[in-house]
Amino acid sequence: HYDTKIPGKMFLKQDSHLAISGSVKARGGIYEVLKHAEDLALEHGMLRKDDDYSVFASDEFKEFFSKFKIQVGSTGNLGMSIGIMSAALGFHVIVHMSADAKQWKKDLLRQRGAEVVEYADDYSKAVEVGRKNSDADPNSYFVDDENSVTLFLGYAVAAKRIVKQFAEKNIIVDAEHPLFVYIPCGVGGAPGGVAFGFKKLFGDNVHVFFTEPTQAPCMLVGMASGLQNKVCVKDFGLSGLTHADGLAVGRPSGFVGGVMEHLLSGEMSLEDYHIYDLMRDLVATEDIFIEPSACASFWGPIMLKDEKVQVYIKKMGLEDKMANATHIPWATGGSLVPQDIREEYMHTHLK
Ligand SMILES: *Cc1c(COP(=O)(O)O)cnc(C)c1O
Repeated sequence: HYDTKIPGKMFLKQDSHLAISGSVKARGGIYEVLKHAEDLALEHGMLRKDDDYSVFASDEFKEFFSKFKIQVGSTGNLGMSIGIMSAALGFHVIVHMSADAKQWKKDLLRQRGAEVVEYADDYSKAVEVGRKNSDADPNSYFVDDENSVTLFLGYAVAAKRIVKQFAEKNIIVDAEHPLFVYIPCGVGGAPGGVAFGFKKLFGDNVHVFFTEPTQAPCMLVGMASGLQNKVCVKDFGLSGLTHADGLAVGRPSGFVGGVMEHLLSGEMSLEDYHIYDLMRDLVATEDIFIEPSACASFWGPIMLKDEKVQVYIKKMGLEDKMANATHIPWATGGSLVPQDIREEYMHTHLK
């Protein structure tokens, strides 16, 4: 197994257990749906800013929202977040899902009243068609995972919320107590937003790393080449195929790559078999289940011993401060995974 000695303390951030959609996508997705609902209600004179927003749950508002569509392209979890929340408010919601999306996520969405359109192609195709269909319909709103500032800001709030948790656990973040955050990355919106929030609050005292599958490191190729969304992993001879469905993205968000340019500390990539091994280790040692994609977060602390990471630590003058460090692998999803699928994952060995 993994014998890395991790200096300092490590805490798991369980966005895997967020309410409603059980993943980090609850942060951005639910915020964007609520904001759109608010915009529509204000625009149509249904609501004033000082009204009690619980009217959103009334039949009158459900009837009103049912006249509008919300569409989104997704590998799975964003679709679940947007789909569940939009359907609950009464919207006609259409989720365009890539070939990587798991069957149980499609089933759950249909059961909640969302329309699911399936594609044999990858995430970029699902987004492209979804956007085109939505743009052609004046009553339809497209949640744009690649460019939405609203979504991004919804994710960013994570940092603000964690301040209270730090206080409860006596976690100090300052020049003598560095913070390391490791987040699995797909198109970049969720990890980018979270990273942005942390850098806003903790500045140079926080070091954020993204982790990606070796066959789909889209943010890595975009940022390292400086070409952002003008390149995709296939341009580098990589397949884009991965068991990490939440990270199965071949082309990064150019918007996020640009924002991250001066904020991100680094990128690590890992082979697929690790995500299942790490998932089993977490169940065995802590009795916590998170989905395989989310386990990519642990690759950050494991790679601390890597020569290039050590060079970074030296360059930042952190060598003698690592014993005071706090490490946070970001568990990006998992609580909604059905029992039979968990069993299947538990028995998946790729190596
Ligand atoms: C979506 C997702 C990510 C990454 O988010 P992006 O915005 O696509 O970069 C990471 N882990 C899980 C489980 C996800 O669903």
